[in-house]
Amino acid sequence: MTERRPIIAGNWKMHKDHLEAIQLVQRLAYHLDESDYEGQDIVVAPPFVALRSIQTLIDSDRLPLALGAQNCHWEAEGAFTGEVSAAMLARLDVAYVICGHSERRALFGETDEIVNRKVKAVQKQHLRPIVCVGETLEERQAGRAEEVVVGQLRGSLAGVKVVDPEELVLAYEPVWAIGTGETATKEDAQELCAAIRAELAELYDDATAEAVRIQYGGSVKPGNIRELMGEPDIDGALVGGASLNSDDFALIVGWRR
Ligand code: PEP
Repeated sequence: MTERRPIIAGNWKMHKDHLEAIQLVQRLAYHLDESDYEGQDIVVAPPFVALRSIQTLIDSDRLPLALGAQNCHWEAEGAFTGEVSAAMLARLDVAYVICGHSERRALFGETDEIVNRKVKAVQKQHLRPIVCVGETLEERQAGRAEEVVVGQLRGSLAGVKVVDPEELVLAYEPVWAIGTGETATKEDAQELCAAIRAELAELYDDATAEAVRIQYGGSVKPGNIRELMGEPDIDGALVGGASLNSDDFALIVGWRR
């Protein structure tokens, strides 16, 4: 069986200006143990305006943190007022770009087709997409969770090539668990992550499916990270609220201690 490298990412959403962002990363670095970085990817995804400051901080303090962005446009440049391209993010040493977060899907009308274009744009710049999929509460209650998630996965990855499976990250994020304090049970999270892996085997092949990392996201906290990470198909976490607190995020990142 492939050993998948854990990946914990903090999605700060529209929180922290660039000065607060610097403070948060400094505090986080202070709380992290050297062993937390070993064999694991740790990503921070601040708002666009803080990317440059955090890039500089990571560089100057030689922090083994990866920089993430929360979104991008699919074109490299052009008349798209207010947008930021994957090409621009690449120039800032961004390594990961969150694509198709449920807030973007629900509040900004992002369809699977749009997410798909973004994933391709991210790959074109040799960045790593974190592709988010997840069902709403109504869809879960109607027994359609797997069908919805698999459908989003197919749409978001249509025509997407996977040369190095480490370069593609999936995030299973049930919409009803995001920012609600309600976490999926480890069994439910595992079931859907396993369904995602099975679909990856259909879309690509067994070896690719075995190697792609799948995160769980939805009210991940210091108190539940360890049991989630104990599940065979959960390789990491995409953390919203708890990533804004350096103590909490450090405890989550330090789940192996
Ligand atoms: C998220 O925004 O991706 C998320 C999982 O948020 P939270 O951890 O706050 O539920």
